[in-house]
Amino acid sequence: MSEPVTADTVDTTLSREALPPWLRPELDRLLALHDAGRLHHALLLTGRSGLGKRLLAGALARALLCRQAPGAPRPCGDCRGCQITAGQSHPDLRRLVPEAGSERSEILVDSARSLVDFLHLSPQMGGARVAVIVPCDRLNRAAANSLLKSLEEPPPGVFLILATGRPGRLPPTVRSRCAVRSLGPPDAGAAERWLTERTEAGGTERIRRALALAGGMPLAAERLLAQDGLASYELLLQQLQRLAAGGDPVQEAERWEQAPAELADGAAAILADLLRQQHGAPDRGLLPADLARQLAAGGSTEALHQAFLRISEHRRSLDQPLNGRLAAEAICLDLAAALRGGYAPSRQ
Ligand SMILES: [Zn+2]
Repeated sequence: MSEPVTADTVDTTLSREALPPWLRPELDRLLALHDAGRLHHALLLTGRSGLGKRLLAGALARALLCRQAPGAPRPCGDCRGCQITAGQSHPDLRRLVPEAGSERSEILVDSARSLVDFLHLSPQMGGARVAVIVPCDRLNRAAANSLLKSLEEPPPGVFLILATGRPGRLPPTVRSRCAVRSLGPPDAGAAERWLTERTEAGGTERIRRALALAGGMPLAAERLLAQDGLASYELLLQQLQRLAAGGDPVQEAERWEQAPAELADGAAAILADLLRQQHGAPDRGLLPADLARQLAAGGSTEALHQAFLRISEHRRSLDQPLNGRLAAEAICLDLAAALRGGYAPSRQ
């Protein structure tokens, strides 16, 4: 069983063949641009969390330092460049990630300045110099400002690879200096096959449910399966039944005080699924059919839609540290409002 991909790392150990299959065509497209001399020196990879932007960024960095000739599949995994990159010590590669322990887990200006110094050194292995910045929305203002000149006009042979699931949080001055590549989710069959190969105690039903819960994002589904996120989800289903039947939202929120984001993701996925089913979309296996009927019967399409929008709003605000209890309560109040007519949420 493979390790799930964790946050705040940049994996530069994968060869092209080891990359999840839906990322390979994107890598090949970027390398084709590079070989044609048309790869933008500052690349911004966007797309939802759990899609593999980090993996693609790491693999592209490794490919740019691979010694194989243009046109060959890269990263090959065997050449000297690939080997040093996998050892995490390639002298022409830098990774910029949020500093552990820094307030709000930001990328700070000292790190950014040191990166700029690095970009102006001569390459030690005679090829490209590459910097990977993930998640780049964590650059604090000063750090972002110190990178502007390098993003605008980097030294020759330099490539900056940025990735984020929240490009809207980037300063426009950064965004406008990058070429944006937006990744979409793989088709459900490909994601399911990949998960089946990687997880031991899967079972098609669990894998489908995890994928549905993760909005089709395979790496997010893998994390759910690995962390027993499905157990939390089963609990959430029971809570929805109680809320629909008049249960107390404040009491139901207590369980989620430490994990309001997980609650928001689960609730949003369920509401989205109910809405999809009301519009005739096929059942993705997220909700047991009898529960879906019961929940849909209590709330109007409009109420479900409103709750979905509000919970998505809560989810965005959770990227900043805040009172988890209050956030969980607000979400449960919105759920209660959606699932039974006439319940007035007390918070805006
Ligand atoms: Zn190589």
